[in-house]
Amino acid sequence: MKKVSKIIINPQNGPKYPVIIGKNIIRDSINSWIVDTKSVERTFVVICDSLIENLYGKEVKRFLEKEVRGKVFLFSFDGGEENKTRETKKMLENLMLSSGCGRDTVVLGLGGGISTDLAGFLAATYMRGVDYLSLPTSLLAMVDATVGGKTGVNTQQGKNLIGCFYQPKEVIVDISFLDTLSLREKKNGFAEMVKHGIIADSEYFSFLREHTEELFSGEEETLFHSVERSILIKGAIVEEDTLERGKRKILNFGHTIGHALEKAGHWTIDHGRAVAYGMVVEAWIAEEYGFVDEVFTLELEKILKALGLLKKIDRLDHRELFSSLKMDKKNSNGELIMALPKDFGEMYFGEGSYGKRVKRELVYTSLEKLWKHCLSW
Ligand code: NAD
Repeated sequence: MKKVSKIIINPQNGPKYPVIIGKNIIRDSINSWIVDTKSVERTFVVICDSLIENLYGKEVKRFLEKEVRGKVFLFSFDGGEENKTRETKKMLENLMLSSGCGRDTVVLGLGGGISTDLAGFLAATYMRGVDYLSLPTSLLAMVDATVGGKTGVNTQQGKNLIGCFYQPKEVIVDISFLDTLSLREKKNGFAEMVKHGIIADSEYFSFLREHTEELFSGEEETLFHSVERSILIKGAIVEEDTLERGKRKILNFGHTIGHALEKAGHWTIDHGRAVAYGMVVEAWIAEEYGFVDEVFTLELEKILKALGLLKKIDRLDHRELFSSLKMDKKNSNGELIMALPKDFGEMYFGEGSYGKRVKRELVYTSLEKLWKHCLSW
């Protein structure tokens, strides 16, 4: 296995930063950062959910205590989307304030996408911004959440409605964390990896198709290559369009329908599965516009099935689905806008935009098709 890979991300709204990928690299990478940035006297705060606190948090804290002369704190919160809130952020901020954490504090977000989104947002606003290191531990956070600088929290009205763009100083992707991640959680990452292949890299899509078994078994080289490839793809897109004014929209493939399914399903459908259904439905819509043919969607369906992401789903209420589709951030003038595929590795671009205005009736019939078609999954 290639030992360590370093990818530089150069966003438009902040200095460039490295993403280091490897196995069992967490200590060496944090240590090098501390030495390179002469941060040995600074305060370090590790933020994670309570599950990660016991799995890895305490160990990272102990390690930091040996390496730095400043104070080291470990603050945790109860995991889950329902706790990715302003209230949790406030609780953590209060802990930091009462512990005397100053402007020279380094925040380390350790965990899945919930922890990295929350810790990143906290770092962005604490004393108007302190240094942030991202240490993703879930596959989804490694291949998606940790690259691109989006941070934020949920509110009662929806997911990620309050937040900001804030770039980390460094991202350390240690794939040895995946050894303890459940297959169910890994699948959320698989869905995003397939999406990356479809939107930008047909070779990567083929690679994933040929290595589904290795992905399931957690074979090291396959995981390393996939994580690296996904980060390169997402990194290139967010470099070109950091603030989501144009090309970054293509990262939403599968997510317009996927988010609506998650919401209408009252969050009982895992994110990866919802995105997988979303990609199939959106591919059917692309078929109707003549962008892709039936073979494209069948290939997509095949890989998603092989990765355990497609199974029968109960019909959901179309009114609820359309009311969340109406809230989609890409919409303009009340029209539904979707990022649709054109080919493996290529997305639709027309009328100066990566978003295609999609007729309501077409969305309706494509959802009807899902309820019928899923019976065969
Ligand atoms: P999560 O953070 O809840 O992690 C999933 C579960 O896995 C949690 O229980 C966590 O404790 C556990 N876990 C994490 N790493 C583990 C490990 N190595 N071993 C054992 N258990 C582990 O959820 P997630 O799926 O990682 O991330 C979802 C969040 O990411 C959502 O809130 C979403 O909005 C956000 N997200 C953000 C971006 C972005 O660009 N910022 C992109 C995609 C998703």
